[in-house]
Amino acid sequence: MFTGAGVSAESGIPDFRSPGGVWSRYDPGYFTIQKFLSSHETRENTWKISVEAGLLTEVEPNPTHYATTELYRLGKLDCVTTQNINSRYQKTGVPEDKVFELRGNMQWVVCTGCCRRFPLPEVLQKVKEGMEVPNCPDCRSILKPDVVFFGKYYHRRH
Ligand SMILES: [Zn+2]
Repeated sequence: MFTGAGVSAESGIPDFRSPGGVWSRYDPGYFTIQKFLSSHETRENTWKISVEAGLLTEVEPNPTHYATTELYRLGKLDCVTTQNINSRYQKTGVPEDKVFELRGNMQWVVCTGCCRRFPLPEVLQKVKEGMEVPNCPDCRSILKPDVVFFGKYYHRRH
């Protein structure tokens, strides 16, 4: 089964490509990995927009997630492939290794220096406390949401 933004819309997450969605207000060309890594302003805006877009909000699974999980339990699905980055299929009971998240997982933030991963709520707390661009507490490098950005992705995954 292949799922995308329409499923998240039901959970109250705006579809990025819909009218009123993030991409109707911001130019996707702005969010390239090159710009994120090279521009403080882009990083600041990325975190700001992520909060505004509801990406950093913990969302509950909706009936589509439960129905999909039920299909999996009944043996009708081998796995779930999703373009979404909120990982709610795992929450409803689809095993971690059966969910393929094509664009990464927004529940994690990764350090571009030491590659350490941090749970999103930890980093979100820093943004909420006024740190406009959170950095790695260990090596002070740039932290980036562990999702696939537009543009060439050359950060080593591990
Ligand atoms: Zn680090």
